[in-house]
Amino acid sequence: MNFRMGRRRRIFEGKAKVLFEGPEPGTLVQYFKDDASAFNNQKRGTITGKGVLNNRISEYLMVKLGEIGVPTHFMRRLNMREQLIRQVEIIPVQVVVRNIAAASLSRRLGIPEGTVLPRSIVEFYLKKDDLGDPMVSDEHITAFGWASPQELDEIMSLSLRINDYLSGLFLGIGLKLVDFKLEFGRFWDNDDLHIILADEISPDNCRLWDVKTNEIMDKDRFRRDLGRVEEAYQEVARRLGIMPENLNPTHEEEKK
Ligand code: C5P
Repeated sequence: MNFRMGRRRRIFEGKAKVLFEGPEPGTLVQYFKDDASAFNNQKRGTITGKGVLNNRISEYLMVKLGEIGVPTHFMRRLNMREQLIRQVEIIPVQVVVRNIAAASLSRRLGIPEGTVLPRSIVEFYLKKDDLGDPMVSDEHITAFGWASPQELDEIMSLSLRINDYLSGLFLGIGLKLVDFKLEFGRFWDNDDLHIILADEISPDNCRLWDVKTNEIMDKDRFRRDLGRVEEAYQEVARRLGIMPENLNPTHEEEKK
């Protein structure tokens, strides 16, 4: 682990990331771990170099999304495993956008994996580990006040824009964006409240299949014990043109 982890105040530790107090008020440092978990933490493991790759991949995608006008929490990458982000109040709802049927959608509705959906589908899941992140509807979200109707409209429209942009970006490097998960947060700019994209976008929370072979290039390789997990993450980074030169974790301090 990075020696810097001990020095700063730890705000939150998740399954794949740690958040530290940032250098200025309103900022945090997001540290990417190699730890992997699946099935609501029932399966755990380590994917060597994953943190380094996800830091880069998420940086790349958030910067690109920023360029098309999607507000994100990303400020700048600090080193191999850390990025500076804006502190937000996380909306406790995970947004899943689906283009092709897979995994839970296929199981729930009996639609064969790989079926192209008639249109992109947006789903919501409550962020609550002890309940297994149950699926919820917009009615639950607004009735229980997890987000206001206006915030939910903004989240829907941002999610669909992100889907359109990322689907094209991944297609350009020979990958199908099957589905992915987003998280949003509230950010106050003086007195103005904005909804901005938070968390990360990486093969940990996207399903990516090779266009020609349908080979799985994401965390399903870990979830389904398919092997060559590190290689898949590296291949995504390589195709994006951002593969770090030296992935040996012992050399990270030299390679900031
Ligand atoms: O498992 P399911 O089919 O519902 O996952 C849909 C998408 O959301 C997948 O890309 C998966 O990686 C992502 N996801 C996630 N975190 C969760 C649940 C799903 O990143 N807790």
